[in-house]
Amino acid sequence: MGILPFAVLRFAQGNWAVGVADTFIILGIATLTTYAWWSGQTKRACVAVVFVYTLGGLFVASQIGPPGIMWMYPVLLTNFLLVRRLLAMTASLFALAALPLTGALEHSMDVIAFLVTGGITCAFSFIFAYRTDTQRAQLEDLACHDPLTGTYNRRALERELRIALEGHRRYGTPCGLAILDIDHFKQINDRYGHEAGDSVLMDFARLIQRQIRAGDRFFRSGGEEFLLLVPGATREGLLVFCEKLRACVAEQLHCNGEAITVSIGAAMLETDTEAGPWLARADAALYRAKHAGRNRVEFAAAEPAPAATATG
Ligand code: GH3
Ligand code: MG
Ligand code: MG
Repeated sequence: MGILPFAVLRFAQGNWAVGVADTFIILGIATLTTYAWWSGQTKRACVAVVFVYTLGGLFVASQIGPPGIMWMYPVLLTNFLLVRRLLAMTASLFALAALPLTGALEHSMDVIAFLVTGGITCAFSFIFAYRTDTQRAQLEDLACHDPLTGTYNRRALERELRIALEGHRRYGTPCGLAILDIDHFKQINDRYGHEAGDSVLMDFARLIQRQIRAGDRFFRSGGEEFLLLVPGATREGLLVFCEKLRACVAEQLHCNGEAITVSIGAAMLETDTEAGPWLARADAALYRAKHAGRNRVEFAAAEPAPAATATG
């Protein structure tokens, strides 16, 4: 939209080369934006947009000199908005180095002034992009972790459940789920205070995190309830693992000398197409563990195999 009036002006002035170049840039950006919108391939489209307007800008500058060079500043800046900062820096440095070679600037002082001002624009854009990236990473980290225990939170859980369901549906990847609920946690709060309760939660999370493997995912789903996703686990493997976790907590987790225990309900991902029924089976198993006296592991029964079709 910004370039369009200039394209019209160039045609009116009879400067066909620049008019066509401006039109090419406008159509290129519009086509790539439409492509990104339609296909969702925004990264690819952004790289192509950078390519189109960097080369287009250099061509226009070579044709009309200083008025065209003004456009190089938004080009240098926009690169950092569209693509990863190292690629943006490469494209911007290329534009900086190539512009003097187009003959757009006659005097060496103008070339030096352009290189310095363009270089400063690139440097600040790079710093800004770097800060934005690190702040985004920090925000993402905060958004998917529980502040007290450092485990993943509910938001991350929903995403990981979706990944597990998709992996199971597409490739048949097995996945085990265990809900771990600390026993009589309210009493710990009541007897020793909320802060003592908090440190039990932190100790519990640290203890479990030391036991799990790299591919396992551990979440705090709320209060004193945690959830463990074990991708690739077999039913027997998950049962043994949960039993190990239960024993480990019973032996090692204490508050003011009092042993703390955990009840665990586990379920394998079976024919579930949504997380709800899978969670409900693990939850029902946990309920049984609580009612059977706590400090134990209960497993949801395996779904019966589909009946064989009678033939002949
Ligand atoms: P059960 O064995 O049946 O699981 O009993 P419980 O006492 O562990 O379970 P209940 O649901 O009755 O109580 C959970 C308690 O956890 C109540 C709530 O005050 C406490 N709680 C929830 N979140 C926190 C937290 O972040 N810090 C602390 N200290 N306590 C919490
Ligand atoms: Mg509890
Ligand atoms: Mg609970």
